[in-house]
Amino acid sequence: MQLALVDNQRVEAFTGGRGTCPTCLSTMIAKCGTRVINHWAHYKKRECDPWWENETQWHRDWKNLFPIECREVNHVAHDGEVHRADIKTPTGIVIEIQHSSITDIERKAREDFYKNLVWVVDGKSFQANFDIYHMLPDPQSEVAQDIVWSKAQRHMQGSNNGIFFRLSEAKEVYPELNITKENLQFGLIHSFQEIKTEIEKSYNGYHQYDWIRPRKTWIEAQCPVYIDFGDEFLVKLENYDASNLHCIRLVAKQKFIHDVMIKKHVHEIASRFYPLSNEK
Ligand SMILES: [Zn+2]
Repeated sequence: MQLALVDNQRVEAFTGGRGTCPTCLSTMIAKCGTRVINHWAHYKKRECDPWWENETQWHRDWKNLFPIECREVNHVAHDGEVHRADIKTPTGIVIEIQHSSITDIERKAREDFYKNLVWVVDGKSFQANFDIYHMLPDPQSEVAQDIVWSKAQRHMQGSNNGIFFRLSEAKEVYPELNITKENLQFGLIHSFQEIKTEIEKSYNGYHQYDWIRPRKTWIEAQCPVYIDFGDEFLVKLENYDASNLHCIRLVAKQKFIHDVMIKKHVHEIASRFYPLSNEK
């Protein structure tokens, strides 16, 4: 842990330090040295918070982006169950900074416990399995309403560059069928290039992607998931539209950090339309 109580102040570990765990109130000793990041450890092995994972530098860097009073905050449920959130903002948003993989059961337990929770997942270990492909128009935009995209997949050159069907065309050919985005599977094949300008105009960070051997628990998560691959954009997992296309959205890390401090609910993070530059 980064913080323990010393003289009733939450402080960082210092050489020779002794303190108290703010969650279970047992004794903690400071671990400082060149081989580990400075941290506090429980003096005796004991059941404190079973959800807590050992901190990496990545965890610490994320916590340090927030004021000290937002880090390692106890959260108490109505029934008295206590857990320590990695980050809890002044508006009540909880951010869990997750490096290790996690079971569905634990993921769900934490979502039920914190409710207004957003996940930030360390993507470094699976980055080579995660491809980001062509831009998608903002799903709310006019151009997106008539389009059903073919899912991008590694080695599927056509889909990776963007191919789609038009809902209006399929309806015209088969007026007797009730064709919707959910069931549209045929039609004239169109390419990204035909509507490139329109897409660029309504671009708001959405892209096709493919995740080889995905960590399914993150795709199925109820709370928003942002993957951190170590650059200035976080990769948010999203469901694009009624066609059930899984997509990602690039959200500037700065925007995320700004919004979690002022928005009340996790679904309001980066919710406004912010046209981005078209670099990626
Ligand atoms: Zn403890």
